[in-house]
Amino acid sequence: MRSFKVCECGTPLTLVEEPTPQPVGSQVLIKLLASGVCHSDIHIWNGYYELGGGKKLQLRDRGIKLPLTMGHENAGEVVAVGPDVSNVTVGTRYLVHPWIGCGGCAVCRQGSENLCKTPRNLGVFSDGGYADYLLVPHSRYLFEIGDLSPVQAAPLACSGITAYGALKKVGALIKDEPIVIIGAGGLGLMAIALHRAMGGKAVVVVDVDPVKRDAAKDAGARAVIDGGAADAAKQIIDATNGGAWAVIDFVGASDTAKLGVESLIKGGKLIIVGLFGGEIVMPTPFFPMRAMTIQGSYVGTLPEMRELLELVRRTGAPSVPLRTRPLEEVNATLNDLNAGKVVGRVVLTPAG
Ligand SMILES: [Zn+2]
Ligand SMILES: [Zn+2]
Repeated sequence: MRSFKVCECGTPLTLVEEPTPQPVGSQVLIKLLASGVCHSDIHIWNGYYELGGGKKLQLRDRGIKLPLTMGHENAGEVVAVGPDVSNVTVGTRYLVHPWIGCGGCAVCRQGSENLCKTPRNLGVFSDGGYADYLLVPHSRYLFEIGDLSPVQAAPLACSGITAYGALKKVGALIKDEPIVIIGAGGLGLMAIALHRAMGGKAVVVVDVDPVKRDAAKDAGARAVIDGGAADAAKQIIDATNGGAWAVIDFVGASDTAKLGVESLIKGGKLIIVGLFGGEIVMPTPFFPMRAMTIQGSYVGTLPEMRELLELVRRTGAPSVPLRTRPLEEVNATLNDLNAGKVVGRVVLTPAG
């Protein structure tokens, strides 16, 4: 099989040819049909996250080892199973949940493998989908896609579950109160589509880019606000009838997190998803006096992945811009993404 691996941070991925692995035990071998290229791969490829104030979080300090095949948004067809696997069928198409933990700790056993302290995330801590085949450690990470095409399904594994996991943290008030989404890039647009599918009341979208604000309006936002405006917080408070119960920050910069806090109503919650980088400083009495919550959200749980696919089956695939490119163009795709030249999602497909 062929795979494209990061062998050294920041240098082009290297094409590696090696024997196709044979599944043992509970493993399942997937022939890849679609692999989405996510912006977080840029961080893995570069080797660090920005922490603000000139500080960087080195990914090797998070336990990421090279060489690594990236690619965590994968869908494909089962071609072989280990002797302990009985509940998946060769030839059936599945979405692969990549947010894999140890499988044995209390956190994993209640489904939150994404929060396990010994993560094995596919395409991050172990080999992912920029390859012909993918070895999945257990069938519980596979979700049948039915009529959904692999290309439509693949982005649900990260972009979809990340937006869904954040929206779930809004809680029951999602049906009664407008929420605020900061950042109308790929994740923001995915969240607008899923919010509607979940029966959400209304979305107010904040972005500094007028093109993205237009895209958000077209996607159904009740109001769009320029996050760079001096009175942005006041505009958000007006658009949410006195302040937001929930703000989801898909950017995660100093300015956006600060704006999120300023826009909350008493009892409100800021959910930070984006990894742009930065820091916030605020008076501690704000927390009790405003009964405020700041919560981070990292992808989603296995039960949330199941719910998301049921939601998509009921309401249709979220309409977000998708473009396919052959696997061989993975380096060009990463360069385009790094240069900000990608609109929506690029999904890699096997060469014809
Ligand atoms: Zn991702
Ligand atoms: Zn665990």
